Amino acid sequence: MKINCLSCGHKVDLDHVYDDYAGQVKCFACGALLEIRTEGGHLKSVGLARFSSRLSPEEALERAAR
Ligand SMILES: [Zn+2]
Repeated sequence: MKINCLSCGHKVDLDHVYDDYAGQVKCFACGALLEIRTEGGHLKSVGLARFSSRLSPEEALERAAR
């Protein structure tokens, strides 16, 4: 599963360990901490843990899953 970093747009490659996961992943491109929740390999929610985001949760999810 790949998600787009909300901070820099880098595609963060997530291992299958993250198919059912809730917590933080770090973008190795810009170092932003993304707070994510996944279920069965699908992204359920995503947000920036470290930086404040003006995106609504829906916008953030849509952007990350693109
Ligand atoms: Zn990034």
